Amino acid sequence: MGLLKELDQRSPEELGRELYDFAAKLFPICRSITGDGIRQTLTSIGTRLALRTVDVPTGTPVFDWIVPKEWNIRDAYIKKPGGKRVVDFKRCNLHVVSYSTPIHATMPFTELKRHLFTLPGNPDYIPYRTSYYREDWGFCLSHNQMMALEDCDYEVHIDSTLEDGRLTYGEYYLPGCSAEEILISCHVCHPSLANDNLSGLAVATALAQFLSGRELRYSCRFLFIPGTIGAITWLAQNRDTAGRVRNGLVLTCIGDAGGFHYKKSRRGNAEIDRAAAHVLHHHHEAGEILEFSPYGYDERQYCSPGFDLPVGCLMRSVWGTFPEYHTSADNLDFIQPLRLAESLRVCTAIFDVLENNRRYCNQNPYCEPQLGRRNLYQSTGGGEIPARLWVLNLSDGKHTLLDIAERSGIPFPAICDAADLLCQNGLLSILPDGSGLNNRPNVTSGK
Ligand SMILES: [Zn+2]
Repeated sequence: MGLLKELDQRSPEELGRELYDFAAKLFPICRSITGDGIRQTLTSIGTRLALRTVDVPTGTPVFDWIVPKEWNIRDAYIKKPGGKRVVDFKRCNLHVVSYSTPIHATMPFTELKRHLFTLPGNPDYIPYRTSYYREDWGFCLSHNQMMALEDCDYEVHIDSTLEDGRLTYGEYYLPGCSAEEILISCHVCHPSLANDNLSGLAVATALAQFLSGRELRYSCRFLFIPGTIGAITWLAQNRDTAGRVRNGLVLTCIGDAGGFHYKKSRRGNAEIDRAAAHVLHHHHEAGEILEFSPYGYDERQYCSPGFDLPVGCLMRSVWGTFPEYHTSADNLDFIQPLRLAESLRVCTAIFDVLENNRRYCNQNPYCEPQLGRRNLYQSTGGGEIPARLWVLNLSDGKHTLLDIAERSGIPFPAICDAADLLCQNGLLSILPDGSGLNNRPNVTSGK
């Protein structure tokens, strides 16, 4: 058991501050599913990871979809007579509906109003709206702001472009001993939204940095992609090799003060589902396991029936259930350094399970070996002896350490430590990857 123990050498305050500062640095960027905002974000991640960016031209068919036009925006405002900006993109990029077509016109309030979006239920919040697949324009503002507008003519200007270009995503690959992969995916297409978007991005980047340079059992692939169309594009480009994904996690909304939620993959009982449930079950914060549903984030694409990859989704507060979701209130006050640090710890604990979940063979299966003679029947009070007995009993070549942890109710790290010790004492031998396993995807070639 190495990863979490090593991460725990760092102070959570310092770790949290680093995660938070990275999110804060990226917060002002006006991201969308294409355009300079997402590229600027990927460039920033690229200063921390050897990120490969992939450009896919507008018009490229990707399964049932087509890579859209590229959207860029420089400025936007609504001016009242006299020239004062009453709504100003430069103050908050949520003010413009993402993918708004360009416009420069003067119009009466009654006409303008058809293009304004507010949240009457939360009258101080600016909503986040998009118009990706229908060419239109619009502004978002707080309901209070709209109520204060007078009935007069307004100058409306959106200095945007929507034209042929490219969709860009970032990919970071860490080769492991096996060609089978652990996939970490997060969307990086939302403008100034902290929990939904930047929390996942910050934690994924830090996790990738932490894992870099290590000898890993599995290869790891990190995707920083625009939501939905990015995952669809990646899957279309990697259709033949996507089966290498042995386990995967979508990371999103993991910086707020809410408890953890893990949404299972479509398979429901994949190794990742069991590993995440086990880690959350033994975690000091309350955690909840959610069944798979075909809506949410990019697990929808990874878990589409043609792929059916074992990819779940780790969140704190579940999208759509908190009032700040998709509004200006999902800002840098809504995420907290220590919550981000703890989310990185949970991801690392899940990685530890996946990396160490092996089968072993008891070398002394006829009755218990005499542990006392080997100084293995004493403990420091941490429940080591039950862990050793469970591991010895169930190490028949059929059970993995996670099977043993689940059945015994003992946390995985203790089971793993027991297996290490019993191996050192010649009582257990490790079974090589691939022997006697029956739940592995078919992998025919390396990278
Ligand atoms: Zn979102």
